[in-house]
Amino acid sequence: MTDTVAALRGILGPKGWLSGDDAAPYQRDWLNRYGIRPLGVARPANTAEVAAVVKACRQAGLAVVPQGGNTGLCGGAIADQANAVIVSLSRMTAIGEPDLESGSILVDAGVVLAGLHEALEPHGLMFPMHLGAEGSARIGGLIGTNAGGSQAFRFGMMQDMVLGLEVVMPDGTVWDGLRAVQKDNAGYQLRKLFCGSEGTLGIVTRAVLRLYPTPKQQASALLVMSDFAAAVTFGAFLRGEAGEFLAGLEFFSDVGLTLALKHLPDLAYQLETRGDVYLLVEVASGSTRVPLDDILASALEWGMEQGLVVDGALANSGAQRAQFWRLREEQPEGQRLEGEQLKHDISVPPGAIARFIEAGAKLCNDILPGVRINPFGHLGDGNIHYNLSPPEGRADFDGKATAFAEALAALATGMGGSFAAEHGLGRAKVAMADRNRSSTERTLMAQLKRAFDPQAMMNPGVLVRIP
Ligand code: FAD
Repeated sequence: MTDTVAALRGILGPKGWLSGDDAAPYQRDWLNRYGIRPLGVARPANTAEVAAVVKACRQAGLAVVPQGGNTGLCGGAIADQANAVIVSLSRMTAIGEPDLESGSILVDAGVVLAGLHEALEPHGLMFPMHLGAEGSARIGGLIGTNAGGSQAFRFGMMQDMVLGLEVVMPDGTVWDGLRAVQKDNAGYQLRKLFCGSEGTLGIVTRAVLRLYPTPKQQASALLVMSDFAAAVTFGAFLRGEAGEFLAGLEFFSDVGLTLALKHLPDLAYQLETRGDVYLLVEVASGSTRVPLDDILASALEWGMEQGLVVDGALANSGAQRAQFWRLREEQPEGQRLEGEQLKHDISVPPGAIARFIEAGAKLCNDILPGVRINPFGHLGDGNIHYNLSPPEGRADFDGKATAFAEALAALATGMGGSFAAEHGLGRAKVAMADRNRSSTERTLMAQLKRAFDPQAMMNPGVLVRIP
């Protein structure tokens, strides 16, 4: 192994190879549930170095684990064996000039999402991917997980925003698919296949992303709803009223608001009324002529007349809009600071959200009475982060984590939904996928994996198990 380490050091130079304590910051996942010390962390500076590292690992029989910002929530970006090399894309951070006429941009896989947003701002362009981890998550990781976020119901998931890709394959060859067109039906949609492949088929090194004009105006409101069913009814009404201007439809519960306000003292809740469930709604347009405030205000009036909206406020400034969004975005952090938690990333058809939440509450309380349920997420596409904290006064879940996960997965599946909506399977949900999806589907995935990676060296144990 010393020869391989020497070879890797030779390829990467002193800045590019970390081992021992220097590798520690890359070792554990964001939730601190998975990860052991790998042989080392490779930090290549360009595609050629990534390819050389992959070839060296292949020759030495080492596993390769691609890592972006390591904010993934299913334990997919860390090593679970000592003879593995983590390949961190954190030194590959070049952002090209945006192509203003085509609405696209070429970026390295290590670009941090928030950095891309900043770089685009002066050009009046946006990349409409927004999530709580955008200060750390990197383009390669977002592609690896096929991230969704708060605007997925409008712009789609990563697979809908990636036009072209460059990927280092498990044999070290480079696939140059860096085309910048939306329409490209020259065979299987390889670029989409890598979206959500969680580092099991190859390492994404560069991407051409689709851009959109930044809205010239937007209007946002924070609403207190009478219950989850009211939130679903109002969401459907707003979709009809606002049409293509609807840009945000997020929900959170009073359990989550209470935790966020408790643990984040600088967070402000400015409405007079509290309720069980809150909606953050936003409309946006590239034209200044669309009467967005009127659209939102009249929808709100309708919601109040119907008894769906209990209270609400339109944001009167950019600062207030940011405050409203923080209330939603700090939901994961508030719950993390409370202590032990269980996360479930569910999707159901949007019309079934209230039914899922009601049935889920019953199931969870049967498993552990008093468990605190904190559902929040993206109403527009039916994505519920159905997270749990132990009952008041308890520090743990009495060993019931699997019972919760299985019951909620079965409930979502029964409603035509998914137990892995936008975070992927990682290491955390492989067994669950084996149980909840047909053997035809799982076998196809294993065959696909073998076709790309016959040695099963890319991120073994993630997404699909190869015996
Ligand atoms: P990592 O965690 O480093 O990697 C994730 C997976 O992608 C791993 O399997 C890894 O091997 C693979 N990978 C990484 N880089 C590459 C590459 N270059 N080539 C191939 N594979 C690669 N997700 C959502 O979808 N929506 C949300 O709203 C959302 N909110 C979040 C909020 C918080 C506070 C946190 C902590 C996470 C949230 N996430 C959300 C999850 C997470 O941010 C996303 O999954 C994100 O896409 C991960 O990016 P990353 O760079 O951190 O990837």
